Amino acid sequence: MTEDQVRILRDELHYHEHKYYVENQPEISDVEFDMLMKVLEKLEKENPSLITPNSPTQRVGGQMVLGERIRHHGLMLSLENTYTSEELYDFDRRIRKTLPDQEIKYVVELKVDGLGVALNYEDGYLSYGLTRGDGDFGEDVTANVRTIKSIPLKLKQLNYMSVPSILEVRGEVFIPKSQLGKVNELRINAGESPFANTRNAAAGSLRLLDSNIVTQRPLDIFIYRLSYGVDLETHDQGLKMLVDLGFKVNEMANVYSSMEEVIQYYYEWRDQYKNLDYDTDGIVVKVNNINHQELLGVRTKSPRWAICCKFPASQATTRINQIEIQVGRTGVLTPVATLDPVEIAGARIKNATLHNEQEITRKDIRVGDWIVLERSGDVIPKVVSVLAEKRSGWEKVFRFPNTCPSCGEQVQRSEQETAIRCINVECPDQRKRRIEHFVSRNALNIEGLGKQTVKQLIEVGLVSNIADLYHLQKDDLLVLEGFGDQSAENLISAIASSKQKPASRVLFGLGILHVGQSAADLLIDYFVSIGAISVAEVGQIGTIHGIGSRTAESVVDFFAQPDNRELFDQLKLAGLRMRAEAPVDLGQVEGSFLGKTFVLTGTLIGMTRSMASERIKLMGGKVSSNVSKNTDFLVGGENAGNKKNQAIALGIQILTEDTFLEMIDSV
Ligand SMILES: [Zn+2]
Repeated sequence: MTEDQVRILRDELHYHEHKYYVENQPEISDVEFDMLMKVLEKLEKENPSLITPNSPTQRVGGQMVLGERIRHHGLMLSLENTYTSEELYDFDRRIRKTLPDQEIKYVVELKVDGLGVALNYEDGYLSYGLTRGDGDFGEDVTANVRTIKSIPLKLKQLNYMSVPSILEVRGEVFIPKSQLGKVNELRINAGESPFANTRNAAAGSLRLLDSNIVTQRPLDIFIYRLSYGVDLETHDQGLKMLVDLGFKVNEMANVYSSMEEVIQYYYEWRDQYKNLDYDTDGIVVKVNNINHQELLGVRTKSPRWAICCKFPASQATTRINQIEIQVGRTGVLTPVATLDPVEIAGARIKNATLHNEQEITRKDIRVGDWIVLERSGDVIPKVVSVLAEKRSGWEKVFRFPNTCPSCGEQVQRSEQETAIRCINVECPDQRKRRIEHFVSRNALNIEGLGKQTVKQLIEVGLVSNIADLYHLQKDDLLVLEGFGDQSAENLISAIASSKQKPASRVLFGLGILHVGQSAADLLIDYFVSIGAISVAEVGQIGTIHGIGSRTAESVVDFFAQPDNRELFDQLKLAGLRMRAEAPVDLGQVEGSFLGKTFVLTGTLIGMTRSMASERIKLMGGKVSSNVSKNTDFLVGGENAGNKKNQAIALGIQILTEDTFLEMIDSV
């Protein structure tokens, strides 16, 4: 009985995951979906023997075992790259020469710029996933691919044949361009360096050891080949079958019978690819007939029946005037090139990060060099190469300093990481960055405390650490440039009200290396108070699901420093919240949530909509998907459209994401 119920629920959830993540046409709301999931989780919890690895509840939490290698079904080849339409005509001539008198058709697809993977299915269920590896053996990343919701855990039935018992498909895992900023913001908040582009973000995420962290990354996939299990006549027949089996296939693929049409397609996309929400770097042309493919065969590394034609990247050449060192919050020294300003893809670029010392050495970047700069999407511009032939002989090799440019102390080079750090806790630039972080939106969110004010406060000696902020008086501020009676009063009251922010925000605000917002939440959930965290041991912290050993060590190191312990005492004395509040007793809540109906719309920045609904329900509120006269609040994220207009028409109170978060915090 329960078994049937579990089976039906799973099929239902598989179906809706497909509707939502693959077809982009959800039939039920997030809340309804979450409810089904909860019911299944409950049943499985009561009957653990019914849990199977391919239950929708099991996407997260699998253990990654890096280094495990499995052989692909047939080599996973790379493609020959070309850059011009002439080279495509050459390719066409070669094919027709080898296969005279044959009717040749080409399938053309966009080449998505991500990380290639092979997925294996046994008896219709996902069994394992591999990276390309060396093309012959791939690396096992099963636990992580499982978290990607557009990858079906269970295949759909076909109505023209039975699903083969062993099946392999290949695809490209990517991160949407619109999501890279958010991923990088989280990394920067945790004191880690941002990903330079979406490909690095996808590759870095898929190789993470903890699938709990992977699940927070907005990974997606396009499947482009049914590589094993079915005898196909044509490649596009395989693409259709992939769709029928429930895979997400890029819709831009087309079949053409002449190279002229292929080149037309290339030109069209060359002008438009930047408008897509995923990075592409060219088109892939494949001979459609599988028999033809086999006759054409392969070279050592690439097939003779397929070719890639790349789009010209957004590049420009400019000159490096200077290389400066910036000191980050955690003391990392980052070299930044000051450039002759240049325009790429509509943006004026004056600086480019050179990442680290190795990068400068590897590319032999010198002050005064002409360089090729590239920018794709909204990504940080990067130095592709140095134009050594343009050197005059006056260029200067850059020597990475041995002392910190801010405090003059000796810098530290560690063997485990490429970063070079200033480890002086008194370092003025680090102080500035730490205070900027502490008052930032996701931490204590103190309005009116911009970079310029922080700089002034430090320079005049009013503030040297974050605890000093809480001793500021209105009169102190009046001596600062740009402060009047009103603005001084506003800042003092903003600082005072930040004392009400929850402990997890305080912990995050301390700026401990690797402790981002989600790690801070996990730590507070587990230890309840920052005091308990400050005396915890590495082993103890490391047992928390979702916290890695690197983070655990960093937390212990932080509180081992006497200055940081003192800072902790001072903040406590100043009256900041250092403990999680007691769990909300729904009967006691008289505040804004109990019995109130919320509608969520638009894109939220700080949390997913399902997280937001979860919070509302936890606090006794209800979530509805439609605006009606019974709606109490509409929470409108970015690009809130129709529902917002309806709410305005009905006179319903509209909350921004920020006010909504404040409401949660104030309960
Ligand atoms: Zn320093």
